Amino acid sequence: MNIAKLYEMQKTLDARIIEEKGLRGKDLLPNTILALQVELGEMANEWRGFKHWSNDQGPRVKVPATAWGTPYRNLLLEEYVDCVHFFLSIARQLGLDETDLTIIDDYLEGSTTNVLTRLIYHAGGIGMEYSPYSSITSFRMAFNMFFALGQQRFNFTLEQIEAAYLDKNKVNHERQANGY
Ligand SMILES: [Mg+2]
Repeated sequence: MNIAKLYEMQKTLDARIIEEKGLRGKDLLPNTILALQVELGEMANEWRGFKHWSNDQGPRVKVPATAWGTPYRNLLLEEYVDCVHFFLSIARQLGLDETDLTIIDDYLEGSTTNVLTRLIYHAGGIGMEYSPYSSITSFRMAFNMFFALGQQRFNFTLEQIEAAYLDKNKVNHERQANGY
């Protein structure tokens, strides 16, 4: 995966949104952190493994599509790359360099439910003054955990993630053009 390329694409998308929505000079970090937590929740919802009350706990990775040009949609991967968008936007807002975005596939401990709970916790810690960790430390913990989750628990390859990011980045530009 060429994370530097994705980071540049995210910066371009963010700049477009800031320009077209008149947001220059506004602190968008609180909204972006909440957006990341929401997307992590949407991702958990497509994973489904925590729904002990349901007979259907399988991940939504092959859902028949109607009008998307492909026979199936991978909803888990789609939500996963929504999270990638907000991770990269937060990295930009924290002033991180692309070299800070090296993907380390650390071994993940614990159940996937527990990993997701910790991930959402660390994402929230990015913006919390009373978090025991600095914003950048919280970011790094969440970012590393997120990519390890994708590879070890969801069995996504970095190539798959990159391709899905490129698709969704395009959709997000189209949405801006269409007044989303
Ligand atoms: Mg989403």
